[in-house]
Amino acid sequence: MSYLDRAHALKEKLIAIRRDLHQHPELAFEEVRTAQRVAETLHDLGVEYETGVAKTGVVAYLGEGEPRFALRADMDALPILEANETEYKSQNPGKMHACGHDAHTTCLLGAAMLLNQDFKQGRLKGTVKLLFQPAEENAGKDGKSGGQLMVQEGALNNVDAVVGLHVISTLPSNEVYVRAGAFMAAVDGFEGEVIGRGGHGAYPHEALDPIWLSAHVINAIHGIVSRRMDPTKQGLISVCIINAGTALNIIPESVRLAGTIRSFEPSVRALLHGELEKAFAVTRAWGGDYKLKILHGYPTTVNDPKMTEFVREMATGLVGAERVKEAQLQMGAEDFSFMAQAKPGAFFYLGAKKDEVQRPHHNPVFDIDEAVLPTGAALLAEAARKFLSSSKILP
Ligand SMILES: [Zn+2]
Ligand SMILES: [Zn+2]
Repeated sequence: MSYLDRAHALKEKLIAIRRDLHQHPELAFEEVRTAQRVAETLHDLGVEYETGVAKTGVVAYLGEGEPRFALRADMDALPILEANETEYKSQNPGKMHACGHDAHTTCLLGAAMLLNQDFKQGRLKGTVKLLFQPAEENAGKDGKSGGQLMVQEGALNNVDAVVGLHVISTLPSNEVYVRAGAFMAAVDGFEGEVIGRGGHGAYPHEALDPIWLSAHVINAIHGIVSRRMDPTKQGLISVCIINAGTALNIIPESVRLAGTIRSFEPSVRALLHGELEKAFAVTRAWGGDYKLKILHGYPTTVNDPKMTEFVREMATGLVGAERVKEAQLQMGAEDFSFMAQAKPGAFFYLGAKKDEVQRPHHNPVFDIDEAVLPTGAALLAEAARKFLSSSKILP
């Protein structure tokens, strides 16, 4: 029986796990209950595991010796008030699994169930490491995300390759999307302050209006991609926060401007940072000033070409060629990128569109088609099985 057939037999069990996690969402580095639930499931399977990895993460071990393969899932939720009225709605007000990480954790537990049987019956040789990482959505106070910390703590040492998946609520259910090379963008944040001189709204000439200065800064920022970046490259800067002012007749002292920067190539990333600095510097033409801090985020998620082909073939064998498609380049970012920097890696999408309602990621009505849970578990397990049983995937 294929892993897909065996995973289907686990469907109800997987749905129950996902709904339990969905009802108890926890934010980045607070995944205590989630990690406990993962640990309990592994314990019941008789699988060896370690807790407290990357603060609130769990790493499990199946088998021993070479080759060594890693599978990754993230566990954190988002600060969103769930608007769905399902029986498994979030019970933690203001917190929600609105990116599907509950499904990822469930799929990896499902893969553990499938692989564990084969290891116990001596059908698999080698090691499979299961990485249940915390904090994909947000870094801690030290600026480090869960995936970054896992790499730093050595969770990928001695591992030959790593694979992970993301469910996508807007793509057709049970379709697999793969892409070699750069797949998801590098992300940086910026925190800026446009500094003028406050005063009376009726006497602007005696003040230096920072709101007026900000308008020039925003225009300059939005000119960067079209006028300063090579048009054959990809990148973007979005101003997402603007705050200033207290009364209708007071010109404020300063304006806060903050946002996100996305790119794929290090040279473009550096160019965007430099040009952003210049955009803020237009404030000085009128005697104003600025402060600008770039917050370094995740690098570009680059899929290893050989591992991508390996995943494409594996998925084709499992779900059929008509369900395996080429993924488009994504401006979204992923901290799987740190793992793919450390070891040859492949990250792929699993379509999970539930119904005709628009349920985008990070939205209060986000939800997925739970029929993808067995597929996700089978894809992860099959990736591990195939990697352990093939001799030459990587040079
Ligand atoms: Zn997300
Ligand atoms: Zn996500």
